[in-house]
Amino acid sequence: MHETRFINEIFAVLNEKLAQEKAARQVVVNVRLSPFSHVSAETLQGSFKELSKGENFTNACLKVLPLEVLLECKECGRSTRIAERIFGCPFCNSADVNIQMDMEFFVESIEIEDKEREAENGD
Ligand SMILES: [Zn+2]
Repeated sequence: MHETRFINEIFAVLNEKLAQEKAARQVVVNVRLSPFSHVSAETLQGSFKELSKGENFTNACLKVLPLEVLLECKECGRSTRIAERIFGCPFCNSADVNIQMDMEFFVESIEIEDKEREAENGD
């Protein structure tokens, strides 16, 4: 599973971040995923949900945001940041472009909701 290493990265950051926090708080993990990644946002979400059951992160939810990568055109010399999967220059349509592929995924931030735990409908 290609996405497992992404999830492990999330867990590592979560562990570090939550070490001094009380559990049971609502946590939102913002991650960036390249449009050129082999992993889709859906796959990542699904696996995160599944794998976080084995950890103490069931109150964490994952927000997958697009990672903008740099596209440089060798034809017209312009460059831009793209957040979708395109393979040509948006300015001159040339296919002679360089697309930054080394950045595929990263954990951007972790939001810990500071509000008191809301009344839960526990069973
Ligand atoms: Zn161009």
